[in-house]
Amino acid sequence: MSNHLHDLMTGPRFDTDKVVLHFGNGTGWTRQQLFDRVARYAAVLQSLGLQAGDRVCLQVEKSVETVALTLGAVQAGVIFNPLNTAYTTAEISYFIGDAEPKLLVCDPSKRDALTIAAEKAGVTHVETLGADGRGTLATLADLAKPMTTAVARSADDIAAILYTSGTTGRSKGAMLSHDNLASNALTLKDYWQFTEQDVLLHALPIYHTHGLFVAINTVLVSGASMIFLPKFDPEQILSLMPGATSLMGVPTFYTRLLQQQGLTKDATEHMRLFISGSAPLLAETHREWQARTGHAILERYGMTETNMNTSNPYQGERIAGTVGFPLPDVSIRVTDPETGAMLEQEAIGMLEVKGPNVFKGYWRMPEKTASEFRSDGYFITGDLGKIDHKGYVHIVGRGKDLIISGGFNVYPKEVETEIDAMTGVVESAVVGVAHPDFGEGVVGVVVLNKDSNLNEAAILAHLSTSLAKFKQPKRVFIVEDLPRNTMGKVQKNLLRDSYKDLFKA
Ligand code: AMP
Repeated sequence: MSNHLHDLMTGPRFDTDKVVLHFGNGTGWTRQQLFDRVARYAAVLQSLGLQAGDRVCLQVEKSVETVALTLGAVQAGVIFNPLNTAYTTAEISYFIGDAEPKLLVCDPSKRDALTIAAEKAGVTHVETLGADGRGTLATLADLAKPMTTAVARSADDIAAILYTSGTTGRSKGAMLSHDNLASNALTLKDYWQFTEQDVLLHALPIYHTHGLFVAINTVLVSGASMIFLPKFDPEQILSLMPGATSLMGVPTFYTRLLQQQGLTKDATEHMRLFISGSAPLLAETHREWQARTGHAILERYGMTETNMNTSNPYQGERIAGTVGFPLPDVSIRVTDPETGAMLEQEAIGMLEVKGPNVFKGYWRMPEKTASEFRSDGYFITGDLGKIDHKGYVHIVGRGKDLIISGGFNVYPKEVETEIDAMTGVVESAVVGVAHPDFGEGVVGVVVLNKDSNLNEAAILAHLSTSLAKFKQPKRVFIVEDLPRNTMGKVQKNLLRDSYKDLFKA
């Protein structure tokens, strides 16, 4: 048996002396250098006692060493679990308690705090990797003898676990197999016509499916290269466009680039493809982008559990406000959210998806997994949408109250639970309202005890120690009562309406 994903990524068909990872400063790694580093990390994982199916959790800043580590895990047959760098120690404790990794890799600055959490969770090793690519794990890789083979893994073996929050606020680990990742990478390469000539501007984080799998895997399987940037800086992106061909971004990238005076047809002349996803791109942004640059942004739709599901066409009309067609081998249907009955074209309902891209289930949650799949194998996405008469998929809303701020999912329940736990709080409701920069901004609405002297500043200060920055409300309002319907349910739509102009420029 071979190692499905590793074989695909390292396939000998591409020029090994070509620079595949440009660091943005004139230096970079060739394919040869990248895969030598990958093989060293694979050897390090083995030497630390990690065997096929064991987990490595990583909460590290974006660096090329992190890329090599994740690919090294694939080579060693180890399941890797990247964690958002914004998570607090308390949040990481939950993830390592659930994933039970043998190794936790963290930023050197967090080592002391996380070692205590790791010991409690029974993690055998804690090693470090910093934003500069240095740390105890990188030193072990320097000294290691590269692994010359790959640990055998089949198409259905798990390559990665990515956590996605549940609507109840409890995070679930989506188990992604070697073939989930491999098949989606090959599909996207063909659909978006990536070749060895492509140079992708990579400015997304790499603990999320978008920057990690959609971007990196598509580049590696097509023999393309990427300019690997630590973060999104619109001026820098603009200055690098003459040496690049493509950009993958969240809608915020495009709204921020539109604020750059230098964004013109000339500035984007060398680029062939701008892709957007992870949150809805406003039709207005699409139109403005086309007017300024002559390029139609290609919007696609996916999620952690399913990789990419749909895409606007490469050739053919890219329609603003739609997420395009189901990708080859992916089936999408729309059903009645209550009964599960199939709906006609143009009818709005629950989007369900089936295909080689769809994950293998939630880590150690068989009941949750069973409840989110239909008996014929379709996954219930939680997104509401429709398929129009031309076959384009539209997303009209998300599973009720999910907030997407800056491309990241924020589950109101999780924020409400933190607020409600504060002394003096009676109850709270958290909603997302339109925000010009982040898509949506988180807003907390809180009812206090009569004698409480809590205020907005005190609540925000408390949340800054318990929640990742992207989940923290931008504003908190103290009210007498929450609006409720006759069934006693809080009417969040009314709250959203009340605060809808809050962040208007
Ligand atoms: P995540 O698991 O973090 O990738 O989030 C997945 C969710 O993001 C999906 O279930 C959708 O609700 C949303 N999403 C992703 N892409 C789009 C898009 N192009 N338009 C609207 N919503 C999107």
